[in-house]
Amino acid sequence: MKQRRVCILGSTGSIGSQALAVIRELPGLTVCGLSAASRWEILAGQAAEFAPPLAAMTDEQSAGKLAGKLPKGVKLLTGGDCLSELVKLSKPDIVLTAVVGSAGLAPTLAAIEAGARLAVANKETLVMAGEIVMSAARKAGVEVLPVDSEHSAIFQCLQAGKMREVRRVVLTASGGALRDWDDGRAEQATVSEALNHPTWKMGPKITVDSATMMNKALEVVEAHWLFDLSPEQIEVIQHPQSIAHSFVEFCDGSVIAQMGRPDMKGPIAYALFWPDRPPRSVAPLDLAAIANLSFAPLSKRFQRAVNLGYQAVRAGGLAGAAMNAANEAAVQAFLDGKIKFGGIVSAVEAIMGEVRQVPQVNMPALIETDRWARKRVAENSVSAGLTKEHGKYDDGISGYGKHTG
Ligand code: NAD
Ligand code: MG
Repeated sequence: MKQRRVCILGSTGSIGSQALAVIRELPGLTVCGLSAASRWEILAGQAAEFAPPLAAMTDEQSAGKLAGKLPKGVKLLTGGDCLSELVKLSKPDIVLTAVVGSAGLAPTLAAIEAGARLAVANKETLVMAGEIVMSAARKAGVEVLPVDSEHSAIFQCLQAGKMREVRRVVLTASGGALRDWDDGRAEQATVSEALNHPTWKMGPKITVDSATMMNKALEVVEAHWLFDLSPEQIEVIQHPQSIAHSFVEFCDGSVIAQMGRPDMKGPIAYALFWPDRPPRSVAPLDLAAIANLSFAPLSKRFQRAVNLGYQAVRAGGLAGAAMNAANEAAVQAFLDGKIKFGGIVSAVEAIMGEVRQVPQVNMPALIETDRWARKRVAENSVSAGLTKEHGKYDDGISGYGKHTG
């Protein structure tokens, strides 16, 4: 079997390390590049095990520590552009984007330029720049495969029919850590409470996004770009068990669902091996033991967050970039103990009311909007009295051109 070369951006994170577990488990894939922001000890261990020819560490100080610990034959890249450089130099067949936030944009475009299949976990890039990414991929004939569990589910369900036969898709949402809390209590949730997800174990940024339900706002935009769906064709419902990962309803009224235990290794393997399904030794889905799958409309609090995703799709242009950057900045401010949990969605809403559009979306306009939205969130949260004094969480998330983790 020809070995396919996989470059993993964000290999020390939740998705990145699960991707390496998939590669360890299944024959046919070889690692040609690994990257992380600053956790050099973990990257050193991964490089020792998978022996890629190249590794990248964005934080230069951490790269200095990593340098002496890499096995012979692994070349180390560092600095602001090192992810794009890694993509270019590692000659990948597949690039898995598993970094957090808009830092994924430049290497995503580099992957398209290199003609590699894109396995997209980094949804923020599609929310920020879906138009640019998808049109570049179409032009280059590059496959864009979703890793996000809902979008992987939709993609799998779509194999049952043709795109023009799709009536709508239904994204499911677990509801996150605070799903059973009343609004007043949720407003004041602490960082550790928001990070206590009931069904998925993920990085801090997406776990907070799940608790605010901004994750589903991002996923509405992601579905719009990945599958070319109108906002009217995308619905969101709550499904606390995280077993049915999403549905596609076809024009004859037939609904296809994709089900499985909440385990990201499934969607990761599907994106890496498509159109094949590699045999995996997962325990059978015992629906009789699970007994109860329930579905419910979103609460008012959750609908308020998801509406921002629909608003971003309808407005188009720079609205996705503004929503994404505002959310990244607000989540970071919450994790840093600077704003209340309840301030996150309010901060994004405020930005969506201020977005300025340009006649043509291009990279400079996107980057400028990203910077502007982050700055406005910082200014607004002070003037709106959303700030607080304590509760710092010391693992960061990214901004465009910044790096952490
Ligand atoms: P994580 O925080 O666990 O890991 C992030 C990885 O990216 C780490 O290796 C970190 O070093 C690196 N990184 C972070 N910021 C960076 C930057 N600015 N520059 C370079 N490297 C950087 O995050 P995660 O939970 O694995 O999520 C990764 C992406 O996948 C996110 O976009 C998330 O929304 C998406 N996603 C995650 C899950 C999940 O189960 N974790 C599910 C669906 C989608
Ligand atoms: Mg998801």
